[in-house]
Amino acid sequence: MAERNGPGFGTRAIHAGQEPDPTTGAIMTPIYQTSTYVQAAPADHKGYVYARGDNRTREAVEGCLAALEGAAFCTCTSSGLGAESVVLSDLGAGARVVAGNDLYGGTYRLFERVFRRLGLDFQYVDTTDLGQVEDALKTKADLVWLESPTNPLLRITDIKAVSELAHSRGAAVLVDNTFASPYLQQPLDLGADIIVHSTTKYLGGHSDVIGGAVLCNDPERADRLRKLVGWTGPVPGPVDSFLLLRGLKTLHVRMDRHCDNAEMLVKWLSEHPRVDKIYFPGLPSHPGHEIAQRQMSRSGGMISLELTGTVEDGKRFCSSTEIFALAESLGGVESLIEHPPSMTHASVPPEERRKAGLADGLIRLSVGIEDVDDLRNDLEQAFQRTFG
Ligand SMILES: *Cc1c(COP(=O)(O)O)cnc(C)c1O
Repeated sequence: MAERNGPGFGTRAIHAGQEPDPTTGAIMTPIYQTSTYVQAAPADHKGYVYARGDNRTREAVEGCLAALEGAAFCTCTSSGLGAESVVLSDLGAGARVVAGNDLYGGTYRLFERVFRRLGLDFQYVDTTDLGQVEDALKTKADLVWLESPTNPLLRITDIKAVSELAHSRGAAVLVDNTFASPYLQQPLDLGADIIVHSTTKYLGGHSDVIGGAVLCNDPERADRLRKLVGWTGPVPGPVDSFLLLRGLKTLHVRMDRHCDNAEMLVKWLSEHPRVDKIYFPGLPSHPGHEIAQRQMSRSGGMISLELTGTVEDGKRFCSSTEIFALAESLGGVESLIEHPPSMTHASVPPEERRKAGLADGLIRLSVGIEDVDDLRNDLEQAFQRTFG
């Protein structure tokens, strides 16, 4: 860990961006549930004019998240895809984006179904292979768009190496940091220029809010992005901002438990006779293990598996758990299980899925923070129900 100056992660998670409410001293920033602000005389106001632009609850959570990512600027949005739309709108027609070939499905759909139509160009490469990134950057590009770890195979891209390469070719680098969270990985420190988040996942952490964020250090880019959120409208409401602020306060504690539980389950699953393959960056056999060790402080709470047996066995397994809930999404305190080929990744054509190494029997676990013995017992009884 680098020597730090200033408060540590947990202290920032609890205090950054917040001060006691000036009216009452309330320790929690109130939910400023208002659409407008009264002015003393025309254009004589307290810096708050209309709530699409200014909201104190939203400002508090933006300040907190910026402090966690070590970013100078943060703008929150109504969803992760809202944050991504704002970044793409800022690039504008004629921009060229080189993106990972293993992106969140909704991101791929946003690129192809919306922004390609508006005149942006997207090329997909395996960003774990620097040679492929280098080839793609022989044609001038504006932005390299990375996810690391990816979903669901948890592939790891060397963010520092890609950032150096992209910068030498005049392209900026964006990292979708949703899977790692700033507790495990801080992309701006590794050289990236922009971070986007689906705060719906680990940052909110309680499966009760949809939200997003975009962060950067460049004041001009930050100013354009903030204005774009106000001008195009994907702002988070005050209640959602409050829930996210509340969630952030325990991010460090939750992430450590997600990681502990995932590590313990991986150890057990690795020796389980019904498990054929495990994808987890913390395993030395994972192709991205070494890079993950360098750029992440721990491996996270996501595990993907292939079982022995048929695709039907895999689906039966997903329907046989009692604590792990069968659902899309991830990063909440509750453990979730899903079958990517028929759920989160059903929109990816089967041959594309197989090309990307995503087997028809793949199962994805979002390991929650319940008691790990109960989680292991739940998976064991699911094995028994599936295989007898
Ligand atoms: C969920 C997710 C998104 C989209 O975020 P929403 O909040 O659902 O709009 C983007 N990227 C990743 C990696 C995600 O998991």
